[in-house]
Amino acid sequence: MRCDVWWARPAAGTPALLELLDDVERSRYDGYRREIDKFRFLTGRTLIRGVAALELGVSARDVVIDSSCFGCGKPHGKPKVDGLEVSISHSGDWVALALTEAAPVGVDVEEVRDAEVDDLARIALSPAELAVFRTVPPGDKKGAFFTYWSRKEAVVKATGKGMSVPMSKLTLTAHDEPPRVVSSEAPEVESGAVFMADLDPREGYRAGLAVFGTEEPKVTERDAADLIASLG
Ligand SMILES: [Zn+2]
Repeated sequence: MRCDVWWARPAAGTPALLELLDDVERSRYDGYRREIDKFRFLTGRTLIRGVAALELGVSARDVVIDSSCFGCGKPHGKPKVDGLEVSISHSGDWVALALTEAAPVGVDVEEVRDAEVDDLARIALSPAELAVFRTVPPGDKKGAFFTYWSRKEAVVKATGKGMSVPMSKLTLTAHDEPPRVVSSEAPEVESGAVFMADLDPREGYRAGLAVFGTEEPKVTERDAADLIASLG
């Protein structure tokens, strides 16, 4: 099984790219106040359509993305494309798309940014993880926290159930060890059936990948710049 991860920079809203959006996506795009948020959203949608078109042998404008939320039906859920499993994430200057043919997948990229990481850790980390986190030297805390966060959010995103799966129900290996689910109190996550990887750590970023199943995927990271340019 393969798992491809495509990386893109947020692309500006050219007429050709905007034309790829459906009506619901277009109103989400218009609803973002900040230009960078518009561009991240647009780039995510463009990536899904462009990569799905390559995989499925159809035109990008014929790719239908279903974003209905599993909880409330509103169009803010994990995106779904018939015939593929996809996950999208953006932070700072990066947008990532992970895709497999059939295994549920989650990807999360996080810019290591100024944040009250001690407060966030109490919400996101399990008691066992917190015990480790408290021993991290102050200068390393931000990096360690965003390593945990990106890994855990990747697992939560692979469930397709978003934040209804609390991150604190998962215990992962320590931030400076290879990523693995040690134990799970969330019924949606079976600790022995999650493959995890850290993605190419761009300077100042952390990125995690989770693929559900017992087969280890072959992970390939790709640059989507040419793909985006070909569509826009
Ligand atoms: Zn919802």
